[in-house]
Amino acid sequence: MRASLALVLFLAVLPCAAQPPARNPQVDAVLNGIQAANIEARIRKLASFHTRHTLSRTDSDTQGIGAARRWIKAELDQCSRAAGGRLQVAFDAFIQQPGRRVPRPVEIVNVVATLPGTQPQAASRIYVVSGHYDSIPSNVMDAEAQAPGANDDASGVAAVMEMACVMAFHRFDATLVFMAVAGEEQGLLGSAHWAEETKKKRLNIAGMISNDIIGSPTGPDGKRYDGAVRLFANGLPALITSKSPELEQIARAGGENDTPAHELGRYLKDTAERYVPGMTVRLIPRPDRFLRGGDHLPFLERGYAAVRFVEPVEDYRHQHKNVTVVNGVQEGDLPQFVDFDYVAKVARVNAAGLASLALAPAVPRDAGVEVVQLENDTTLRWRANDEPDLAGYRIVWREVGAPTWQYTRDVGNVARYTLKDMPKDNYIFGVVALDRDGNASPAAFPRPWRP
Ligand SMILES: [Zn+2]
Repeated sequence: MRASLALVLFLAVLPCAAQPPARNPQVDAVLNGIQAANIEARIRKLASFHTRHTLSRTDSDTQGIGAARRWIKAELDQCSRAAGGRLQVAFDAFIQQPGRRVPRPVEIVNVVATLPGTQPQAASRIYVVSGHYDSIPSNVMDAEAQAPGANDDASGVAAVMEMACVMAFHRFDATLVFMAVAGEEQGLLGSAHWAEETKKKRLNIAGMISNDIIGSPTGPDGKRYDGAVRLFANGLPALITSKSPELEQIARAGGENDTPAHELGRYLKDTAERYVPGMTVRLIPRPDRFLRGGDHLPFLERGYAAVRFVEPVEDYRHQHKNVTVVNGVQEGDLPQFVDFDYVAKVARVNAAGLASLALAPAVPRDAGVEVVQLENDTTLRWRANDEPDLAGYRIVWREVGAPTWQYTRDVGNVARYTLKDMPKDNYIFGVVALDRDGNASPAAFPRPWRP
C-alpha cells in the first residue's frame, strides 16, 4: 500500500514532456571502445621505466621520467594519427624552482592531448581528465630506487590514455583535455602549473576529473569491491580559502552540498550508473581522503569544479613503497596488484561522464530562486543558453538531506518557471539545460535572487 502510494507520488512529479532517451548511443559507442587489454599493456609499460620520479634521469630511452613522458606522447600521437589527427598532443613544460620537495630547479613536463569541440558555441567549454605519471618509492626524495607506480598512478594515466585514444574517433560539442601530469608526488606541481596558466588565460574549465589510484578493487584483507569506485567531490573548503564572494550566498541558501564540484559529482554518479552496469559511484562530499591530496585540488583552489576518483579501499603496502619483501609479504606498487578489468571499468565510468558532459549544453548561468515575498510557490530563473541545439530546461529537486536528485520536471524552453505549492524552504533545486538529443547538463544551483 505504501509502495503504491509512493509510486503515485513519484508519477505525479514526472515531467509532462517526453522523457529523453536514458542512454545516448554515442556514449555507448565510446564505452564499447575502451579495452582492458590496452590499459594492461600501458600500465605494464609505465611500470617498466624503473622509476618515473620527477627528479629522475631524463637522458635514457628506457629508464626515468624523460623516457616515460616521451613514450606517453608518442603513444598519444599514434592514437591521434589513427583517428585522423584531430587530437592535438603537446608537452606543457616549465622549470620548477626549488621548494619543499624539489632540491634543485627541475623541468616538469605535462603531456596534454586536446580534442577540440566541434560546436562553435561550446568549443570554449573545456572538460579535463587527468592522471599523474610520476611515481615515488618509500622516500619521496629518492629518485633512484625502483618505483613502478603501477596503481599510483599508471592506472590513472592508462585510463586517461585509453579514453583519449577512443574518444579521438568521436565528435563532441565541447572540448576535452586528456592530461598525464608530473610532479604530483612532489606537491601537485604539474597540475598546479597547468591550472594556473589556464586561469591566466581565462579559459572556461567547466569540469575537471583526477584519476589517482584506480587500479584495484581489493582491500588489504583480500575483500573485493569490484562494483564500486569512490568519487571525492566537494568544492566548499576551496571556496572558503579563496574567499569567494559567492560563499556567503551559497551558505545562506543551504547550498553547502551544491557547489559546482558537488553538482559535477552527482552528474558523474548518475552517468556512471546509467551506462556502466554493475558499477556504483560512492559520492563522498570531501575534497579528498584524510592526509592525502591530488591533482584536482589546484583546480578547486582556482574556483573550478574538480573531483577525484579513487579505488574503494586502498592497500597501503602497495603505495609509495619500495619494492621489497617484508615478513614474506611482497610490498611495492607492482602491476601484479592491479586489476586491469577494474581499471577499464573506471575508465568507462569516466568516459560516460565526459562524453555526456561534452555532448550536452553548458550549465545554465545565473540561476536564481526568487525571494521576493513569503509564498509557498517556488519561482526559478536563469539566463538562456546560446547553443543552437538547445531544446529547453529541466528542473530537478530533492528533499533536504538527500544526496542525489530525486525528482525532475521538463519545463520547455523558458528562462523562468514557477513550481506551484512547492516551498523553496523544503527542497534543494537545480536547473539543467537539455539539447534536442536529450543530452543534459549538470545542474545549476539557484542562488537567492531579488529584483
Ligand atoms: Zn597518486
